[in-house]
Amino acid sequence: MSGAGPDTRLVHAGSAPRPGVRTVNPPIQRASTVILPDAKALYDGAHVTYARVGLQPRDSLCEALAELEGAKGVHLYPSGLAAMTGVLLALLKAGDEVLVCAHAYRPTRLFCDRVLTRFGVAVRHYPQTASPDEVLAAAGTATRLIVLESPGSLTMEMQDIPAIARLARDRGALTVMDNTWAAGLLFKPLAHGVDVSVQALTKYAGGHSDVFMGSAASNDEEVLARLEAGMSEVGWSVSPEDAYLILRSLRTLPVRMAQHGQSGVAIAAWLRDQPEVLEVLHPALPGARGHALFTRDFSGPSGLFSFVLRPASQAAVDALLDALQVFGLGFSWGGHESLAISCDPQRPRSGDYPGPLMRLHVGLEAPADLIADLRRGLDAFAAAA
Ligand SMILES: *Cc1c(COP(=O)(O)O)cnc(C)c1O
Repeated sequence: MSGAGPDTRLVHAGSAPRPGVRTVNPPIQRASTVILPDAKALYDGAHVTYARVGLQPRDSLCEALAELEGAKGVHLYPSGLAAMTGVLLALLKAGDEVLVCAHAYRPTRLFCDRVLTRFGVAVRHYPQTASPDEVLAAAGTATRLIVLESPGSLTMEMQDIPAIARLARDRGALTVMDNTWAAGLLFKPLAHGVDVSVQALTKYAGGHSDVFMGSAASNDEEVLARLEAGMSEVGWSVSPEDAYLILRSLRTLPVRMAQHGQSGVAIAAWLRDQPEVLEVLHPALPGARGHALFTRDFSGPSGLFSFVLRPASQAAVDALLDALQVFGLGFSWGGHESLAISCDPQRPRSGDYPGPLMRLHVGLEAPADLIADLRRGLDAFAAAA
């Protein structure tokens, strides 16, 4: 820059790279543009030439998630829903058919019904409680992909994932599992034969209710190449700050999950004994639906579950929620704070449970305080019923 004028010097001052000191965590590299060493490097393919999909700490997060998922490769998407839709877009084409479980996360189902169908992909649904043979019996000759989610969103049904994955593979259909409930920690889809493990990192991996991101992990080189092509053709990118937040939270995922799970099961067991509650839908609870599959396949519980109240008016349900002081009323979950919602307006069908369906996310507060809060809510429910 010798002889350059003040404006040019201002544009370039301080931009020379410095050898970094070694820190515990990777640096945050903010960049769209990557400066290449010479003219040949612009087009030689061996260099990172643009920062949309790379750089630290995004690469570091992918490495850590590959470790968590037992995967050869991981791709990051700007939200959990974007991860699911990105995988489906990358792996399906016009003329294919996709089989989707009925209690998949609702926006995933809506994407299949409203968007994939516009691009010539046929969509079939199968009941969440279908046996592996029944799932495959629902497949047509054009079925290329089966969407799995276990426990199912809101209603927590368990699927026999290893058996479905095995049968799907025999038929040449790919399996994609939304594994957000288990956070890549409590259940390992890839080790159980699933082709792509998707999670909303927004939930437990992020863990603090302040960031959106999603991931897709696989061990299949061809699938990973198709996902990578899908990423760059559609143009997703995640911010380095967001990736940093997820990576930071990932370090404490096992200790947080142990607490969420332990408190969640304690509260589920308490709820089951309350006179206002008909049924608790938490597969980790002994005697609950899906418990046998859960203990066979999962290494532990998370803090998200649902319960069915005695039949009552919407006003009584609202009275329960409005009486809560520790549980916040809010969607999403997986953060340090407890949350409660009523579920019926979101469900594909109502009437499959005899009373109102509620969902809780049990956070890191003391279980005794959460139980006192729920008792306060149930008292208000009983008074209004
Ligand atoms: C929240 C959620 C998603 C979507 O994640 P976002 O980051 O909010 O887009 C996907 N699947 C499940 C099961 C979820 O609970």
